[in-house]
Amino acid sequence: MGKELWYKDGLCFECLQCGSCCSGFSGTVRVSDVEISALAHRLGLPEADFRKHYTRVVGGGVISLIEKPNKDCIFFERERGCTVYEDRPRQCRTWPFWRSNVYSPHAWKRGAKRCPGMNSGHLHPADLIKEMSEDDGSLGAG
Ligand code: SF4
Ligand code: SF4
Repeated sequence: MGKELWYKDGLCFECLQCGSCCSGFSGTVRVSDVEISALAHRLGLPEADFRKHYTRVVGGGVISLIEKPNKDCIFFERERGCTVYEDRPRQCRTWPFWRSNVYSPHAWKRGAKRCPGMNSGHLHPADLIKEMSEDDGSLGAG
């Protein structure tokens, strides 16, 4: 029998659109080939052009979105938020239920210091959180 999940009763989260996870710091926003294809299509660009102008290789074959000079995600606009929301990468979709946030109550508390939506809003069931954390699209770092 497996260990009981510390979040077995679920966790609350609702994005408050503060933008802090998309702006002002350098980081990896991992994009898969399928996600690149969708984003390129959305922007009306050939995939090769999209890769050249919107992504960078961060090592180990991992491709990340690039940032603006001010360290905001290339697709973040201060007035509008994420401008590719419907096609945002899985890494963005699964936040804050990343392995790095849900492996312990302490990790969750630490994550909530940078994301005011954690512990707000709707209760998300444990099975959904577990599923997202096991395939969170991130590099496992927080
Ligand atoms: S930090 Fe949290 S509340 Fe703010 S935009 Fe990101 S997910 Fe939403
Ligand atoms: S793709 Fe959208 S949700 Fe993801 S980091 Fe960039 S602005 Fe934020």
